Amino acid sequence: MFNVQDIRADFPILSQKIYDKPLIYFDNAATTQKPRAVVEKIESGYYNVNANVHRGVHFLSQAATEAHEEARRTVQRFLHASSPNEIVFTRGTTEAINLVASSFVDEYMQAGDEVIISTMEHHSNIVPWQMQAARKGIAIRVIPIADNGELDLEAYKKLFSEKTRLVSVVHVSNVLGTVNPVREMVAYAHAQGVPVLVDGAQAVPHLAVDVQALDADFYTFSAHKIYGPTGMGVLYGKEEWLDRLPPYQGGGEMIETVTFEKTVFNELPYKFEAGTPDYIGSTALATALDYVSALGMDRIAAYEEELLRYATEKMQAIEGMRIFGEAAHKGSVISFLVGDIHHYDMGMLLDRLGIAVRTGHHCAQPLMQRFGIEGTVRASFSFYNTKEEIDTFIIGIERVRKMF
Ligand code: PMP
Repeated sequence: MFNVQDIRADFPILSQKIYDKPLIYFDNAATTQKPRAVVEKIESGYYNVNANVHRGVHFLSQAATEAHEEARRTVQRFLHASSPNEIVFTRGTTEAINLVASSFVDEYMQAGDEVIISTMEHHSNIVPWQMQAARKGIAIRVIPIADNGELDLEAYKKLFSEKTRLVSVVHVSNVLGTVNPVREMVAYAHAQGVPVLVDGAQAVPHLAVDVQALDADFYTFSAHKIYGPTGMGVLYGKEEWLDRLPPYQGGGEMIETVTFEKTVFNELPYKFEAGTPDYIGSTALATALDYVSALGMDRIAAYEEELLRYATEKMQAIEGMRIFGEAAHKGSVISFLVGDIHHYDMGMLLDRLGIAVRTGHHCAQPLMQRFGIEGTVRASFSFYNTKEEIDTFIIGIERVRKMF
C-alpha cells in the first residue's frame, strides 16, 4: 500500500538496537515516534524564528506569529473545522478536557446536573468530572459496556434525564481499541438538546476525523500521539459554544483590556490561551499533520487495520491467550493476557527481546475493574510497524509462555 521501509527511514529511533536486538516499538498508543521533519521543524524554529508571538512589532515576532497561526489553520483543515477560531491550543488532551470540565460546569451545571461518560474512559475523562462533582455537586452517569468491549447503546439512551447537561465520551478506546459510534451518539444527544465532547486522543492518529461530519461540540487530541511534540494538544470547540464559555485560566494573551476595576477578555481562540503559547510546538504539530496527510489517513487506517487483523489471528492461536476488546470496529490496539502470566512479567521479558509494549491499567482502572483484572499487556501498532515485527512478537510471546 505504501513503502514501509521508506517511511521507517524517516524515523531514526526505529533503527536502534535494544539489548542488541532490533527495537520493535509497539507502544504507539502511549506515544508515537517522531519523523525527522518534526524534529527538524523544532530545531529550525528555535534557531531561526524564535520570538514571542502576538505582541511584537519586530520582524521575528511577526514571523513567529504567522507560523503559529498558520499551524492553527493546518489543524483546522485537518479536523475539517469551520474556522481557526474553533482551534484552541492546549498542553494535550488532558488539559483540553479539564478546560471544558471547568468552564462548562461553571457556566451550565448546577448541583444534581448530570454528565454522561463511559466505562472505557481514560482517567483524563473521569477525574476532571469527579473534581467538578466534589466542587459543585454534579453527578456522573456511566455507559456500561458489553463483554466484547462495545458500548451498550440502549443503556446509553436510558441514561438521559432532564438533568443531563453533557456527554463526554472517548472516540477510540486506548485499551480495547473499540471505535465508538460517536456520530450516532452525538445525534442522539443532540435530539435531547445535550452537547457532546469527544476524546479523540486515540482516533486522530489512526482515522480521518471530520468534526463537522461527527457534529461533535468539542473534540480533543494530543500532538505526541500523532507523531508531533509532547506538551501540545488541541481543543476543538464549536464557535457558538466557545463563545459562551468563560475562560479557563487568566493571564496575558487572553485579555483585550485590563484595569483594576474590569477586564475584557480577548476574542476566540485567545480567550482560552492564557500565557505564552508553545508556538514552536504548534508548528511542529502542523508538520506532523502534514506528514500523515501526505501518507493519507485512509491509507494509514487500511494498513493499520491489516496489521491488527494479522496480529489478532496469530495471537488467537496462542494457548491461554485472552484478548480484551473484540469490537467489530476496532483501532490497532490489542490488550491481552496469557494464562496466568502477570502482565508485568510478560512486558519485562518481551522488553529483553527488544519489544516495547505497555503493561498495567493504562490509566483506565474502572475498565480493569469491569473485566475483573488488574492490568493487561498492550501492543499498539503504527503505520511504521511491519508484519515481520509481529512475527517476532508472536515468537516472543510463545517463548515467555513456555518459560512459565
Ligand atoms: N484519552 C485517551 C483515550 C488517551 O489514550 C490518552 C493518553 N493515553 C489521554 C486521553 C490523555 O492524553 P495526554 O496524556 O496526552 O493528555
